[in-house]
Amino acid sequence: QLRARALIYTQYGEPIDVLKVHSYELPQVGTNQLLLQHLAAPINPSDINQVQGVYPSKPPLTTDLGTDEPAAVGGNEGVFQVLEVGSGVEGYSKGDWVIPADVNYGTWRTHSVADSSKMLKLPKEKLSLNQAATIAVNPCSAYQMLNYYESLKPGDWFIQNAGNSQVGRAAIQIGKKMGLNSISIVRNRDNLQELVDELTELGATHVITEEQNESREFGATIKSWTKGSPIKLGLNAVGGSNCTALARKLANDATLLTYGGMSMKPVIIPTGLLIFKNLNVKGFWVTANIKRIPNSRQDSINEVIKLMDTGAIVDTPNSDNFFELKDSDESLLKTFQTALTNSKKGKQIVLF
Ligand code: NDP
Repeated sequence: QLRARALIYTQYGEPIDVLKVHSYELPQVGTNQLLLQHLAAPINPSDINQVQGVYPSKPPLTTDLGTDEPAAVGGNEGVFQVLEVGSGVEGYSKGDWVIPADVNYGTWRTHSVADSSKMLKLPKEKLSLNQAATIAVNPCSAYQMLNYYESLKPGDWFIQNAGNSQVGRAAIQIGKKMGLNSISIVRNRDNLQELVDELTELGATHVITEEQNESREFGATIKSWTKGSPIKLGLNAVGGSNCTALARKLANDATLLTYGGMSMKPVIIPTGLLIFKNLNVKGFWVTANIKRIPNSRQDSINEVIKLMDTGAIVDTPNSDNFFELKDSDESLLKTFQTALTNSKKGKQIVLF
């Protein structure tokens, strides 16, 4: 019988402190089930918040995996390969790539057995491993934010902060494909020009720094770019003064979607923008949309697959952290700890 190893936590806290490896025998594959080998899983900011216990959606702690104390497995996203197909399952073959149909699956493990109805099949010939492992959250969030809230037409403008995040990069590329103009705000850095060139190459119309975003004088430059066209949508993953300055650039009746709070500072919208510009200030949560907008997960995944297949969304930069199945539990823990530590410096993927 195959053994699986999982990164579990029995109490909430900093992932580096509370995650440990649990090894357990996998159950027999039932009639409607699939045996899955996990291939790759990212470390997303929300995965970390979940282990910290501060994320509103989290898996329950249970003893289902035979742990002494109730535990949950970390990770929400990842791509798995089908190793065995239950006798009653149709539409799946050995070697297929699948991803969890819902959140809180616990992707940070080597293998699992799941009902086939809990999985979505991906066309593996159309995607890289990295794209498959990270398709459900970041590019789908960008797709939904650009398509579900404002009806944007070619030539329209949007503005976003965290322009170099995985969501931001996807928004730039999807926006370009939709014929939109974009302004992306990034944090200043020594090699700023390199980043500006990189995002421009992806399709960003303009890339500006936080300082430029917050400078009154720079407003004139932005007006010279948009030439009176309204900026209809703002995407905010940062908060604080960055978001306030972003909101000031939006047109009357525009929508500001907040989907992250990387600066840990609150969103402050000046009273005048609400009264005189009638800004529509909303939150965005891709997880809530699974229920709120029927089929949103499958529909946006389908659209994103098309964009990846045609090269409109290219592979985003990330760091690979390799773990070999023959390696020790200690090495598995070390691989995740390194990935977690480095996750502030760019997207980390663990490959099994
Ligand atoms: P990445 O790890 O790819 O990027 C993180 C981004 O945040 C980088 O642009 C980074 O800039 C920026 N950043 C970090 N700290 C700060 C700070 N103090 N001030 C300003 N910018 C900062 O992230 P993801 O693309 O995976 O996620 C981005 C955000 O979106 C996260 O908050 C995540 O939780 C959220 N998210 C929300 C979803 C939802 O449904 N609500 C869905 C998907 C993501 P730098 O390069 O300068 O460090």
